[in-house]
Amino acid sequence: MLNTEALDTELNLPSPLEKFAPEWEGAERVTMYVKRDDAIHSIISGNKWRKLKYALQSLPKDISGVVSFGGGFSNHLHALGFVCKQLNIPFHAIIRGDYSQNPTPMLNDLLQYGTHLHYVTKVIYKRRNDSDYLRELQTQFPNMAIIPEGGSQQAAIRGVQEMVQEITIPFDSIIAPVASGATLAGIVSSLSSSQTAHGIGVLKGENYLESLVNQFLPGESRSYTIHHQFHCGGYAKIPPYLSEFCDYFNQTMPFKIEGVYSGKVFWALKHLLSTHTFAQGHRIIIVHTGGLQGMRCT
Ligand SMILES: *Cc1c(COP(=O)(O)O)cnc(C)c1O
Repeated sequence: MLNTEALDTELNLPSPLEKFAPEWEGAERVTMYVKRDDAIHSIISGNKWRKLKYALQSLPKDISGVVSFGGGFSNHLHALGFVCKQLNIPFHAIIRGDYSQNPTPMLNDLLQYGTHLHYVTKVIYKRRNDSDYLRELQTQFPNMAIIPEGGSQQAAIRGVQEMVQEITIPFDSIIAPVASGATLAGIVSSLSSSQTAHGIGVLKGENYLESLVNQFLPGESRSYTIHHQFHCGGYAKIPPYLSEFCDYFNQTMPFKIEGVYSGKVFWALKHLLSTHTFAQGHRIIIVHTGGLQGMRCT
C-alpha cells in the first residue's frame, strides 16, 4: 500500500463549511452553507483530492509510476502531478492535443513538478478508455498505475463520501457540478433517505450525465436531479454573461469562483433560488469543488 501520509500535514481537512447569504432574490427563504473543498490545498484542490485519495492509497508501494489523461487545463492532472511530485512517484500525463509550442500555465506547472508530458491527437485521446489502448499503454509503461481521466473510477467514490461525512450540520439538499459524474455519485451514495442532491451539468449531457452517475451507483437508491439548463453552451464555454457574473461574484463575495465548474453552479443556484425551486426553510449545502487554477489564461 502506498503511504500518502506525507501529504496529510499539507491538507486543510476537514475543509471549512461557511454560511452563504447573498442578497439574491429568493435567498432569504432558505439557509445555505458552502463546503469549501477549494480550500483543501492551493494546488491539490477540491474534488480531485477526494477522488484520488483511495486510488493512490490502494497502489502497491513499489509502483514504478502513474499514468493519467487530461486536457491542457485539467485540474485532475494538475492535482495528480503535484501529488506525485510530493510522493516522489514518476508521473506520465497523456495530453489531448499538442501544446508543445504553446504550453498552458497548467502544463508549465506540470513540467516544474517533473511530469513527463505525452501529447496525443484528439483521435488517439478518444481511445483513453478502450481496453486495447490501455493494454498498449500498460506495455509502454510497465508496472505503472493507469488512472482514468478526472480520476473518476469506483475508488473515487469513498473519498467523496468522506467529504459529505465531514458535514455535521443537518441539511436537505446538496448541490455540486457534474462532468464525469463521480463526484455527484459519491455524494448521492452518502445521503439519507430524506436528503437529495442537485447536480449542475457543466456540459451538454442530458441522459448522458445521468448514465455516468448511475454507473457508480449499482443497485443503490438514487435521489438526485441533474439540472441541464446551466451548461452555458458546453464544457468550458464561458459566455460574457457568465464571466460577468463570476467577475462580480469575485469582487463582492468572500471566496472565488471560475467559469468552468463553480461559476456555473452559483449561476444555476441564483436562478433556482429566484424561481423558488427549494421549499421555504430548505437547508442547502453547495459544494465548491475547487479548480481555481483553471482561471489562469495563457
Ligand atoms: C473535475 C471537476 C469537477 C467535475 O467532477 P466530476 O466528478 O468529473 O463530475 C467539478 N469541479 C471541479 C473544480 C473539477 O475540477
